[in-house]
Amino acid sequence: MQPTLAHVDTALPPDDDPRRIELRSWFEANPTPSGRQLARRGLVAPHWPAPWGLGADPTHQLLVDEELRRAGVRRPDNTIGIGWAGPTILHAGSDEQKERYLLPLLAGDEIWCQLFSEPGAGSDLASLTTRAELDGDEWVVQGQKVWTSYAHRAEFGILLARTDPDAPKHQGISYFICPMDLPGITVRPLVDMTGTHTFNEVFLDEVRLPRSNLVGDPGQGWSLAKVTLANERVSLSGAGALWGMGPTADDLVAAVRAVGGTADPLMRQRLAALWAEGEILRLLRLRTVSAAVAGVPPGPEASVRKALADEHGQHIMAVARDLAGAAGMLSDGGPTPGVPQDATWPDAMWTYGFLFAPALTIGGGTSEVQRNIVAERTLGLPHDPQV
Ligand SMILES: Cc1cc2nc3c(=O)[nH]c(=O)nc-3n(C[C@H](O)[C@H](O)[C@H](O)COP(=O)(O)OP(=O)(O)OC[C@H]3O[C@@H](n4cnc5c(N)ncnc54)[C@H](O)[C@@H]3O)c2cc1C
Repeated sequence: MQPTLAHVDTALPPDDDPRRIELRSWFEANPTPSGRQLARRGLVAPHWPAPWGLGADPTHQLLVDEELRRAGVRRPDNTIGIGWAGPTILHAGSDEQKERYLLPLLAGDEIWCQLFSEPGAGSDLASLTTRAELDGDEWVVQGQKVWTSYAHRAEFGILLARTDPDAPKHQGISYFICPMDLPGITVRPLVDMTGTHTFNEVFLDEVRLPRSNLVGDPGQGWSLAKVTLANERVSLSGAGALWGMGPTADDLVAAVRAVGGTADPLMRQRLAALWAEGEILRLLRLRTVSAAVAGVPPGPEASVRKALADEHGQHIMAVARDLAGAAGMLSDGGPTPGVPQDATWPDAMWTYGFLFAPALTIGGGTSEVQRNIVAERTLGLPHDPQV
């Protein structure tokens, strides 16, 4: 039997919990709610305070997730807006900024991107050189960003730029809201090896931002970037190989089982190891959720989990590719060549996964950087030499 949340010190509220009853009747009245309806009801980010969320504690968040799943309703897709830009604006934005940006962002009506990384500033983000200078009532921005996911679709970006070049490098950075249609912004596509256009180069040439687009105070950008990057909602979902999405180790084992298993002893061993790795990660996720539900402040689990989960995703895709053999070179060559997959993960998804997997240990902070965090903050090892 697989362990569930109930096995790790906690159980979710029962069926007659008044919050469930109320939500179920709302879904009966609104069986296919729009993003805006979900946002107004506080269901997109239930842990945010009213009027945008429900001020939900971790148990309440998990309850809302369950009820959304039960109703077959998905939240709007605006990862950077909902996951990162929104929490930072909530934390440090002015009342006008909250009023203007939060609802459309939650509703998925306005898509956001993250203008942080630069050609010379990735892991060492604080080395960024994009400048913003105040000229009257406007900030004039000059510089280049790279790997900007969704810049070609986004209405707004969260932008880090250096406003005080004489200050120590972490202190001279400010945090801005950048409308992506301003004159001087050029977005150039970067097509990755999956053949997909997700990220871009963004050139900012004398872009004039209204003074009111600064978030927080000048020089506060680095601490706000940390708020942005640390934000993680309590969630039980996310076992998929591709940053929580896509097929899991279980799905791969099931696909092999569905074609009668494998007689290759080495492959059997690899599949068993993969399955065990997936279980360890699942227990780690349950432990994190159960700690959050019990009110224990977050520990180093997020960095441990990211480092392990990204590599686990690569392991899943490597085994799937080896199972596919020569068929893995085709755009629809899944792990069980010649045998149609069930509808859950079409073969094309596996092919995409093979090709996307190398990005897992780079995006959102590389595995080496996650290990540095664990080494320094958990194990108390000496810091990286400062450069
Ligand atoms: C799919 C994807 C989507 C992305 N989307 C965005 C986005 O929307 N917005 C955005 O701003 N950025 C985005 N990025 C960029 C991402 O944040 C950077 O790629 C990442 O931070 C690493 O920076 P870098 O590529 O410059 O590599 P570098 O920092 O140059 O690292 C190169 C190598 O050196 C290692 N290294 C660096 N420093 C250390 C150290 N101190 N100790 C040990 N090893 C070290 C790294 O681990 C890596 O192996 C995205 C990246 C990917 C892959």
